[in-house]
Amino acid sequence: MAGPGRKARSGGEDRKSQQARAARLSAALAQLYPEARISLDFTTPWQCLVATILSAQCTDERVNRTTPELFRRLPDVGAMAQAPLEEIQRLIQSTGFFRRKSQALKAAAGAILERYGGEVPARMEELLTLPGVGRKTANVLLGHVFNQPGLVVDTHVRRVSLRLGLTCEHDADEVEGDLQKLLPPGDWTPFSMRMILHGRRICHARAPRCPECLLYSDCRRVGVAGGKVHV
Ligand code: SF4
Repeated sequence: MAGPGRKARSGGEDRKSQQARAARLSAALAQLYPEARISLDFTTPWQCLVATILSAQCTDERVNRTTPELFRRLPDVGAMAQAPLEEIQRLIQSTGFFRRKSQALKAAAGAILERYGGEVPARMEELLTLPGVGRKTANVLLGHVFNQPGLVVDTHVRRVSLRLGLTCEHDADEVEGDLQKLLPPGDWTPFSMRMILHGRRICHARAPRCPECLLYSDCRRVGVAGGKVHV
């Protein structure tokens, strides 16, 4: 792992200039998407956890159409832990992968009741002990519920970070580690929300709109330059 002053792992750019470029990109994203916020609907930590688990392989719009009835029928951790699996499956069926997600929700509710007194824990290490919770979900909770730095790496953040030359890793956890070294903790949550929006609106997976992209001058366009898209 490269340290300060040594060569960073992306494109031979040294760490200092990569940090400066990341700061410029972060500022440009803040101008582009000042409104950046999570698009899942929730009012409690538990509801945020549920909505984030349901959002795997599903659009946030569909999750937001599903959760009102789910939260009405099963409003809290206790209700979810006691509900028959079949009822949970029926309520979340439209979000896809509903068997796996139902098991995760019920098991997570049980674990929160058993180990954390019914309260969603507020630390990364504790969140990662919950069934169905990986670093992405834990970072959503940290950043959007517990007011702590949480750098969410979804498919958009991973792809755009690679293209920008802020990482050369493909694994989401490695990308998170690289971005954490480039940005101050206070930027982690808003930066990741803005990268998600940029991936959805401009830096599309198959056809990135580089000529109209306002990040163009600071983007390495890794895997994109030359007309063929590789990442
Ligand atoms: S310049 Fe192209 S590759 Fe770079 S962020 Fe913009 S759309 Fe994506």
